[in-house]
Amino acid sequence: MSKGGRVKAVLPRTKYSNLVTEQSIYACYDLLRTVYPFNSWDLPDEIEVNVQDDHTAYAEFVVPNEINVSRALVWSMDELVRSVAHEIAHMMQYRMGKFDEKNPHDALFHKLSREICLSLGWRQQEF
Ligand SMILES: [Zn+2]
Repeated sequence: MSKGGRVKAVLPRTKYSNLVTEQSIYACYDLLRTVYPFNSWDLPDEIEVNVQDDHTAYAEFVVPNEINVSRALVWSMDELVRSVAHEIAHMMQYRMGKFDEKNPHDALFHKLSREICLSLGWRQQEF
């Protein structure tokens, strides 16, 4: 930081986001579990995570408890936390016995995501 109080950041130009690591995905999961509605969902303590180079999806949920995030597409902390939150909603659908892989963004998903977005201050269209 310079003396004028302005932040001067020099970011390396990389092909993949340095934000997305197994450690940061776990940290987001643990953070989200401390706040509503996730803290009322009885989510598993242990999950599996993977960093992917996928250019087509920000993140994905894989049954039963795996969350993968793309370091090719996720370039901001907000996107990282939101992506993990989105996949936790799918995990919750699965845990309720209502995860349809062919139609994951169904009415239940919208109900869960509405609750998440209201609680965390996100716009549902961006979720
Ligand atoms: Zn989804």
